Amino acid sequence: MYDLAIVGAGAGGIAAAKLALKLGLKTVLIDREQDSFGGTCINRGCIPTKFFLNLAKASKQWGEIFSAKPLLIEKIKSPLLKYLLGKGLVVTWGEARFFDNHTIFVDEEKIEAKSFIIAAGSLPCGLVGYPNAVLAENIFALDNIPQKVIIAGAGYIGIEIASLLNALGADVTIAEMQERILFGFDARLANRFRIILETKGIKINTGKTLDDFSLDEFGLVVMALGRKPDLAALNLLSAGVKVNEKGWIATDKYMHTNVDNIFACGDCTGKMMLAYTAEYQAELCVKNITRGPVGALTEENYHSLATSVFSFPQIAHTGASEEILRDKGVSYRLIKSNFLKFSSAYVYNDTDGYMQIIIDDNGVILGADIISEKAAELIALVSVAIAGKMNVRQLKDCLLVHPTLSEIIPLMLRDEC
Ligand SMILES: Cc1cc2nc3c(=O)[nH]c(=O)nc-3n(C[C@H](O)[C@H](O)[C@H](O)COP(=O)(O)OP(=O)(O)OC[C@H]3O[C@@H](n4cnc5c(N)ncnc54)[C@H](O)[C@@H]3O)c2cc1C
Repeated sequence: MYDLAIVGAGAGGIAAAKLALKLGLKTVLIDREQDSFGGTCINRGCIPTKFFLNLAKASKQWGEIFSAKPLLIEKIKSPLLKYLLGKGLVVTWGEARFFDNHTIFVDEEKIEAKSFIIAAGSLPCGLVGYPNAVLAENIFALDNIPQKVIIAGAGYIGIEIASLLNALGADVTIAEMQERILFGFDARLANRFRIILETKGIKINTGKTLDDFSLDEFGLVVMALGRKPDLAALNLLSAGVKVNEKGWIATDKYMHTNVDNIFACGDCTGKMMLAYTAEYQAELCVKNITRGPVGALTEENYHSLATSVFSFPQIAHTGASEEILRDKGVSYRLIKSNFLKFSSAYVYNDTDGYMQIIIDDNGVILGADIISEKAAELIALVSVAIAGKMNVRQLKDCLLVHPTLSEIIPLMLRDEC
């Protein structure tokens, strides 16, 4: 019998396996086939999209960009799998199906384990009946990109694909059902960001669906409509695992399902839908499984979580949101500035840049939002400051390298507070 069986070899499953092996657990990792190793992030999500976005800055040729993908993915996957196997991991390829809460079948193979972590990911939502339609995550399998493209959905994936195709010279239209783009980001900032994207030629239509357009005009429809559970094959009922009203695996703040020896992490819980939160939750699962009879449970904590959209420019957020603080009536101060008075913005062509930092009455940093060509990197500085419970005075006094975009953070604080 294994100490731990993990279903899903994506971001969550791999992180769980790494920690479990480190702690000496006899561990088996299951995924549908060897090609699935790495899950959504490595095979068709974070890694290919950001790689292509980065390449698009230098090359404007779709074919040139696309041909680099298989090599990149193998470069990442092979050493990772080799490393895990070298640490003693057992891997089994095939579809997993629970028999009871201690037994899983992978095709005909019976696997028994004391504990389970379900890291089964999610599937893309798509609309059927639209000709020339492709799911956002499958766009890199196309040989070429037509001149006129419409994208359904203005979440982060839709915006990143729009930015990529726009940078490659396509005429891009977005149809978003909600009245705003990037739901979850600060509304005022998302609006400022929308104007920047529109200035670059991306046509953004909110409050509209694909049915509001004459689709004959477009050579390609890209579906970026969010994610849905991928749990049908798992036969969760046999193990007694409950799902919530949206069909995601129900977990508490310890990533524990309703079944004593079964935990879940990542997209299949419907909580965060990001690779690094899947990894974080996976480690929580392993810590809580191995805590021992008197050990304290470790609970989720996202207070310094940073998120970013990797478009041109990027938009990023960390910590508390101004909208939520305002709605809750919490007292706070917003320190904000555009980048126009900072020389680095001209050196690195980041003059659309904007930053806002939220502090409490004692100067403790609560949150930040940044628009910048390098927002995903810059937000890390504020995220670390929040995690370290830093006061704005400490951040203000940091002497960062000149000329860099990161120096704009303390320089802006020195000017504005
Ligand atoms: C286009 C795109 C861009 C993205 N960009 C980013 C980004 O920049 N940053 C970021 O953090 N996140 C990004 N994400 C999200 C990120 O990829 C996911 O949140 C993350 O991969 C989820 O990890 P996971 O381990 O929960 O699931 P997955 O990585 O999806 O892995 C789940 C695995 O479980 C397997 N599985 C499911 N059921 C079974 C079964 N019954 N038997 C055997 N195996 C099974 C699947 O085959 C799959 O390999 C992006 C996603 C997409 C689609």
